Amino acid sequence: MKNNGKLPPWLKRRLPANDAYDHTHHVIGSLGIETICTNANCPNKGLCWEASTATVLILGNICTRNCKFCSVAHGKPAPPDPTEPKKVAAMAKQMSLKYLVITSVDRDDLQNGGAEQFAGVVTKCREENPNLKFELLVPDFKNCQDKAISILAKAMPFVFGHNIETVPPLYPIARPGGDYKISLKLLEKVKSAYTDVTTKSSIMLGLGEKEKDVIQSLKDLRNVNCDRIAIGQYLRPTKQSLEVIEYIEPEKFDWWKQKAYDLGFKWVMSSPFTRSSYNAHLQNTE
Ligand code: SF4
Repeated sequence: MKNNGKLPPWLKRRLPANDAYDHTHHVIGSLGIETICTNANCPNKGLCWEASTATVLILGNICTRNCKFCSVAHGKPAPPDPTEPKKVAAMAKQMSLKYLVITSVDRDDLQNGGAEQFAGVVTKCREENPNLKFELLVPDFKNCQDKAISILAKAMPFVFGHNIETVPPLYPIARPGGDYKISLKLLEKVKSAYTDVTTKSSIMLGLGEKEKDVIQSLKDLRNVNCDRIAIGQYLRPTKQSLEVIEYIEPEKFDWWKQKAYDLGFKWVMSSPFTRSSYNAHLQNTE
């Protein structure tokens, strides 16, 4: 359905209201932790926080890139916070987490792209929460992929994610600081170096992409042995962000799910509200 200025009925959600939501809000707030849930205006925040899950945003809330689909602030970030590993470990403990997704802003200003901070956070969390499983959703480390991958060796997670976000023809308008081939390269290098680690990516629909380009992107991901894919509806997070061109019907997401399985993905989540970290703990903590 083309965007006519009205949200289609399948994208309406109730406001959150339960004690678990309040607890999540309290723990995150009292420790001074940033989340992508809040910084990206994620539509799933109510449901996720009610279910005591949240995705931690490390390395600050200022990004060195300026992607047009994203509401995270752009500018000159502060140096990494040395107390961040301790804070995230405390959050995992206070929320009794079994599975934690950690992501970050792009840090092109750091020589290791922020990999050192990812490794520090995972190491500290493991010390304090030995049974915790991790999913990392990392930037493309475009100037330092090999260095970042070797730093992350000591912190390789259960799932290693990096999102291509959209199809290559839309990169100039949606992800001008990114490079599609560099993103694929990162997933390929991680899978070749750590064959036991599950790799994952995500793509948003509704930005005006062509079906044939989405199919090609799914094939490209399979060609670098990407195991998992999350497919969701792009929703405009701020008035300055790119407009939604199309609201994809739920049935079409079901079609994409089957298509992705047919192309060989081992795990697929595809629905209007799918985000790379949405329900990431499901099927991973049994
Ligand atoms: S889908 Fe991810 S980013 Fe969105 S609220 Fe849930 S955990 Fe946070």
